[in-house]
Amino acid sequence: MEKHFEKTLAYAQAQDEKDPLKKFRNEFYFPPKVDGSPSLYFAGHSLGLQPKKAREFIIAELDDWAKFGVEGHFHARHPWLPYHEFVTGMVSRLVGADPLEVVMMNTLTVNLHLMMLSFYRPTKSKFKILVEAGAFPSDQYAVESQIRLHGFHPDQALVELFPRLGERCLRMEDILERIEREGDELALILMGNANYLTGQAFDMKEITKAGHQQNAFVGFDLAHGAGNLKMHLHDAGPDFAVWCSYKYLNSGPGGLAGCFVHARHAYDFKGPRLHGWWGQNKKTRFKMEKTFDPIPGVEGWQLSNPPIFQMAAIRASLDIFDEAGMGRIAEKGEKLTSYLAYLIQDLNFCEIVTPADPKERGSLMCLKVKVDAQKLNEKLVKMGVHCDFREPDIIRFTPIPLYNSFQDVFELYEVLKHAIQ
Ligand SMILES: *Cc1c(COP(=O)(O)O)cnc(C)c1O
Repeated sequence: MEKHFEKTLAYAQAQDEKDPLKKFRNEFYFPPKVDGSPSLYFAGHSLGLQPKKAREFIIAELDDWAKFGVEGHFHARHPWLPYHEFVTGMVSRLVGADPLEVVMMNTLTVNLHLMMLSFYRPTKSKFKILVEAGAFPSDQYAVESQIRLHGFHPDQALVELFPRLGERCLRMEDILERIEREGDELALILMGNANYLTGQAFDMKEITKAGHQQNAFVGFDLAHGAGNLKMHLHDAGPDFAVWCSYKYLNSGPGGLAGCFVHARHAYDFKGPRLHGWWGQNKKTRFKMEKTFDPIPGVEGWQLSNPPIFQMAAIRASLDIFDEAGMGRIAEKGEKLTSYLAYLIQDLNFCEIVTPADPKERGSLMCLKVKVDAQKLNEKLVKMGVHCDFREPDIIRFTPIPLYNSFQDVFELYEVLKHAIQ
């Protein structure tokens, strides 16, 4: 562990003083403790805090709706007809993609299904889906139902990657070995680019390359990667990716999800997909013609006209990400998380599940605690800490670079010290 960290409030405050992102903290609302002071918020991996601008942006749309009625589609300050396009540039910079490759639409699980309808095309000899064992339940349900939709059974078609005995994270060499072993039977690889529970980050490029060598499609769930890890989705090369925006991306509960389809599928997508009018060629959309003529790129997968208030919220949040820059965000996230790991190690009440190597994780700290985790969680809640508890013994804290400070991390350490006694 890093030697240069120090276990003092003065040290933490000095880090905050020289933090290039420090001004962004003030752009978010912190839920107050009972005494009215801001709580220690470490649950950004579950629900990100509200950007103050979100309220302003949503009210602007409400006002324009009142003022323009249906004409708001053309005359609102941000016209609703092309509204989703106002975030495309920011999203593409966020995940390292071409604008043609990204869109915000629907919600995560819906996008996952849409993508699997297009990229899971099993045949008698090529029908398997490779996933992480213990993936987020919604992903597991989605994958299983897709397998059954095509007349297969998960017992034959679902390949789960388990960590080695006694280990909690996967080893890259084991992932690659398994891909090769399943070989030509593999139809799709679907993994988190950061595991939701352990925070382990995977090398998307390597996995994609290995999958493509077996002629499998490769998709990633970026629920814990988007807004957390610095990514180059286009270069990494997966066929698709999906992510929600209410966790690290602060778009509010049930906020819109992201979807990425690689440029190689932009113009000549011949595979199956579900159609809706928002995916239709913009020039002819309102001619209401019968033949579907898709917009090139991922926009062609859009179904409905999007919910503008949710779009306004994500636009407010992405403005902040765009200004701060994912490089700086990830860099600070790595320092904050390392600092938290350094402080926690000292307390000797848990095993740190999240990989120690910063290259193998983003901002997330998953702990397997040796004390009663539920009681500890209850105590922390009473002391004004937001984190999350997973039965039986897992507690996760996430220091979010845009709004958490080194002082927050230090204060969390002090609270933990008391709580475990
Ligand atoms: C949060 C999360 C989801 C949630 O799915 P929704 O469709 O947004 O409700 C799914 N998968 C992963 C990996 C998640 O972390």
